[in-house]
Amino acid sequence: MSSTLRFQVVGEAFKKKAVEVPNRESRPSEFFAKYVFNRQKMAKYLPGYVYEKMCDVIDNGSKLDLATADAVAAGMKQWAMELGVTHCTHWFQPLTEGTAEKHDGFVEHDGKGGMIEEFTGKALVQQEPDASSFPSGGIRSTFEARGYSAWDPASPVFVIGDTLMIPTVFISYTGEALDYKAPLKKSLKAVDKAATAVAQYFYPDATKVICNLGWEQEYFLVDEDLYAARPDLLMTGRTLMGHDSARNQQMDDHYFGSIPERVAAFMKDLEIQALELGIPCKTRHNEVAPNQFELAPIYEECNLAIDHNMLIMQLMRTVARKHGFRCLLHEKPFAGINGSGKHNNWSLCTNTGVLLHGPGKTALDNLRFVTFIVETLMAVYRHDSLLKASIISATNAHRLGGNEAPPSIISSFLGAQLTELLEKLEESDDDELFNLSGKQALSLDIPQIPELMRDNTDRNRTSPFAFTGNRFEFRAVGSQANCAASMIVLNTAVAEALTDFKARVDALIGQGVDTFKAILNVVREDIKTCKPIRFDGNGYSEEWRQEATRRGLNVETSAPIILDHYLDESTVRMFSSMNVLSEAELQARTEIKHETYTKKVQIEGRVFGDLCLNHILPIATRYQSQLIDNVCKVQSIFPVDRAAKVSATNMYLIEQISEHNAYIVENVERLIEARRVANRITDVREKAIAYHDTVAPLIEDIRQHVDKLEMIVDDEYWPLPKYREMLFIR
Ligand code: ADP
Ligand code: MG
Repeated sequence: MSSTLRFQVVGEAFKKKAVEVPNRESRPSEFFAKYVFNRQKMAKYLPGYVYEKMCDVIDNGSKLDLATADAVAAGMKQWAMELGVTHCTHWFQPLTEGTAEKHDGFVEHDGKGGMIEEFTGKALVQQEPDASSFPSGGIRSTFEARGYSAWDPASPVFVIGDTLMIPTVFISYTGEALDYKAPLKKSLKAVDKAATAVAQYFYPDATKVICNLGWEQEYFLVDEDLYAARPDLLMTGRTLMGHDSARNQQMDDHYFGSIPERVAAFMKDLEIQALELGIPCKTRHNEVAPNQFELAPIYEECNLAIDHNMLIMQLMRTVARKHGFRCLLHEKPFAGINGSGKHNNWSLCTNTGVLLHGPGKTALDNLRFVTFIVETLMAVYRHDSLLKASIISATNAHRLGGNEAPPSIISSFLGAQLTELLEKLEESDDDELFNLSGKQALSLDIPQIPELMRDNTDRNRTSPFAFTGNRFEFRAVGSQANCAASMIVLNTAVAEALTDFKARVDALIGQGVDTFKAILNVVREDIKTCKPIRFDGNGYSEEWRQEATRRGLNVETSAPIILDHYLDESTVRMFSSMNVLSEAELQARTEIKHETYTKKVQIEGRVFGDLCLNHILPIATRYQSQLIDNVCKVQSIFPVDRAAKVSATNMYLIEQISEHNAYIVENVERLIEARRVANRITDVREKAIAYHDTVAPLIEDIRQHVDKLEMIVDDEYWPLPKYREMLFIR
């Protein structure tokens, strides 16, 4: 792109008008879930006994027989065809991130030379996508060549355009998970089982524990023409070069500012479409960085919430294009400016009440609250390294540990009141808490935590795992990640902690200890054990890094090394005892994560090298020639001593350009060589480490010189849209 073209594109982008979004004639309550085959539609389109059966399948996980599936498919087909649907697809969540689909028409030969629309129970329930191109970490080649996708009846079917979308798990023929959904469902089952057993100490009527997730999705919007002029954004999702804009987020004005018109139109369109797909969008606002925004729905059951998050990311991308934008879901599209994350608000509740909500009406309620808080902390304490592995990626690594995102050390913020309460419990002994009149007199004296928390402006933004009133908020999750990766770990770890907790409590009860006392004793023990994970201070500070090291927390920053914790002995034990993932599955997943890491950095290395050699160097040299030309002319008209003085500045710039150019050429050569060396490594883990240690740092290092050139070279010549142009477009 020549500079004149750049100016033209920037000018056009400024002039763009908001795309008109037609007003809906009805209210959100009327079009909500219009395109979802939910219970309401099931009741309408399925025979009564089939509807009952489906409710049982959804609520209690009972088996779906083929006859029922056929009846469901028939009702679904009728509903879908009324909406103009012609195709269906199994929609699944492979380990590549994102979602995958394979579309099939609703058509079948009618045996008389014609066609009929057909959609059977079998097509609904199971398919064999030709998925050999999805990563499987060797699982499918080791175990069995084929994989299949199977409907998850707990996730309602929905319609996009002319296609019926069927959410599925994706597994190998021998049962190994090749996706995120299958282990997620197992982890939800594990936490349900473990948490229900513990909840029954307090509420004997509780029969089920549900995990809730409320995600907050951050993203950037960039004008699509500017995006198209940035090969790095196009191919890697982030800018690999670009000097800071003189103004970026220091004024904090974007956060509080009104939403620009073009963006508001995009948001409105997105929200309508999301609501029609049953995603309960609730809040939207500007984020800290220019052109950064956030969308959050009302929380939902975890499995459904994750489907909805995958769907919203897909929608964001398509709706953005309709509005002349590109939606950037990369965790760090712009250096020096806040990155994007996805806060995962997580909580557990029984069919009779919320488990992380305190204080309760009775002492028992309060003990329930403390128990679930402390056992969640135990889970995080035992598996802090694994939790970090669950959120790390080549892209999220750029965001973590920066001065704006959660630090790369997992710790938990509880706030002053809750901390005080735990300290009091830890120090108290039974005699203090139980006086002679026994249980009735016991008061855990819990202040109104949720109420106070809500008003608490200091919710400690630097904590990666913060308690925020009635839930924990895991903030280290990357903006483009599948939330399932971290939710699988968190749910399983909490299931393990609660199972272990119950075993110890039951052992005490077996020895004749009163249940209430037994619980209190184990809780007290655990408060002491998990203390190192609690931290309310500034997570960005260097002192915390040192303190965390002393506490034995994981302070590693290399992504490939962090990923190793998927294979820690404690990880393998946890996942197999909770029946969520086998060792072979973990090995496969870790291999895929290492491979993905390598590929991302490899692509960045290539794109960056190319840009340096065929965009930056030629332009810098052209500008340098112009300066040289000027110096020569100066020399031709001035006497020698005057000429030296007059051309001093240009001489200086000529030298600067030479130095930067030389540095870039030499180090791009080293970058290419580093890739060559890394590519020869066959072990996937070693290869990822080589990419992390040798390739990635070179990109960042050379970039400094490119960014300096951007400041030197005449703005007219610069080929790539600049930060200030991409970030302040309206
Ligand atoms: P913030 O101040 O962090 O932006 P919000 O009020 O926007 O918080 O809520 C963030 C998310 O937390 C929303 O999706 C909300 O539905 C969710 N949330 C609220 N309560 C719970 C809960 N008990 N369990 C899980 N998620 C919850
Ligand atoms: Mg939040």
